[in-house]
Amino acid sequence: MKVTVFGIGYVGLVQAAVLAEAGHHVCCVDIDQGKIDGLKQGIIPIYEPGLEALVKKGTREGRLLFTTDAALGVGFGELQFIAVGTPPDEDGSADLKYVLAVAQTIAQHMTGYKVIINKSTVPVGTADKVSAKVAQVLAERDSSLSYAVVSNPEFLKEGAAVSDCQKPDRIVIGTQDLQAEQKMRELYAPFNRNHDKVIVMDVRSAELTKYAANCMLATKISFMNEMANLAELLGADIEAVRKGIGSDPRIGYHFIYPGCGYGGSCFPKDVQALVRTAEQVGYQPQLLQSVEAVNYRQKQKLFQFINRHFKGELAGKTIALWGLAFKPNTDDMREASSRVLMESLWAAGAKVQAFDPEAQHETQRIYGDRDDLLLVDSMEAALQGADALMICTEWQPFRAPDFSYIKEQLKDAVIVDGRNLYDPAQMKAQGFAYYGIGRGESV
Ligand code: NAD
Repeated sequence: MKVTVFGIGYVGLVQAAVLAEAGHHVCCVDIDQGKIDGLKQGIIPIYEPGLEALVKKGTREGRLLFTTDAALGVGFGELQFIAVGTPPDEDGSADLKYVLAVAQTIAQHMTGYKVIINKSTVPVGTADKVSAKVAQVLAERDSSLSYAVVSNPEFLKEGAAVSDCQKPDRIVIGTQDLQAEQKMRELYAPFNRNHDKVIVMDVRSAELTKYAANCMLATKISFMNEMANLAELLGADIEAVRKGIGSDPRIGYHFIYPGCGYGGSCFPKDVQALVRTAEQVGYQPQLLQSVEAVNYRQKQKLFQFINRHFKGELAGKTIALWGLAFKPNTDDMREASSRVLMESLWAAGAKVQAFDPEAQHETQRIYGDRDDLLLVDSMEAALQGADALMICTEWQPFRAPDFSYIKEQLKDAVIVDGRNLYDPAQMKAQGFAYYGIGRGESV
């Protein structure tokens, strides 16, 4: 099939590359000229395992095109994906200006039937707004072309986006238009061979499904962080508690890791957006408000540990920081816990010497050159001359470091571990002051 994708970010580029790999022909449209020029030369703007090879293959074999020419994009595919960003507005609700701008563009240039597919995460009712925008522009053009607006939320995880798209758990299609449903089923048939993963529902339910999924996951994290904070005060070990509850199949082991708060481009903004949506319909979403509040508090925790350890005297100290990305296997720094920590350390007069396997460029882009941030090439280099080690992201190489080397390098044998990578008893035996989450020390 011929498909156009508007918005070539984490979602759009991965989706486009995976659809092309399955044999579809995909035209990728973005307003960012630099990104499109780079992609034409095989430069992949984000880090995502397996993505580069797919993009290069799709381009080489002529199934993946890149352009900033929106008219060309609209003319290309019968299926038109909208995968642009939906960042939070000033009040936390999702800003739909990019989504509606694409809807307008499609309506301005279309010359035949189109299925307009909302892949961006958008509040309930957005499909109606997209539909109204298209109808308005077509009316201005005096055109009676037909179209359908479908909600098809994306559930990929950054860091595993390619395999999630190739082997989705479910394919949610929100539409009551049979022709559009048929086209969507045809599009996703290559990913739906083993057993039927397609779940068709009305548009509003599909839109809410995406928010409900992310809010449930965020709730699990905040719940575990609340338990961890309690465990600290009650003399319990949250890692034992985690195993104890995860063994119940009704609870399960997935997504119950305590830590230094959730980040990324989705959970923070989606929880906030659903809170605003609820308020707009006169409902007080008490649980969601607490999920957000617990997360905010959790992100302060690592700084509180280190500040207390150094008795509030952080000025002039150098902190080695392992992990900057909001989670492993990505370079995404949006809402990362490391940012809250670094900004607090800087405000207290400390310097940060940081290493991340993939997010160094992104960190440099966000913070620029500053005297109190040194981005280094290795875990070991981050330790040199540092007073303490802090960990924000559970990258695989951080799990089994050479502790005697760490101890040799640090001026003060202290580790603040935001991801519970190490065993507190072992750390104590090696002579470290060790702060984990929910494992003894409280703040
Ligand atoms: P992103 O910021 O990485 O990419 C968005 C892209 O859209 C940018 O390249 C931008 O230049 C482009 N764009 C903006 N306006 C445009 C226009 N008028 N025409 C063409 N391109 C335009 O965003 P993302 O992380 O890919 O997220 C996109 C959507 O998918 C959001 O709604 C997000 O909530 C949702 N989502 C994201 C993830 C994730 O893990 N990142 C997962 C599921 C869903």
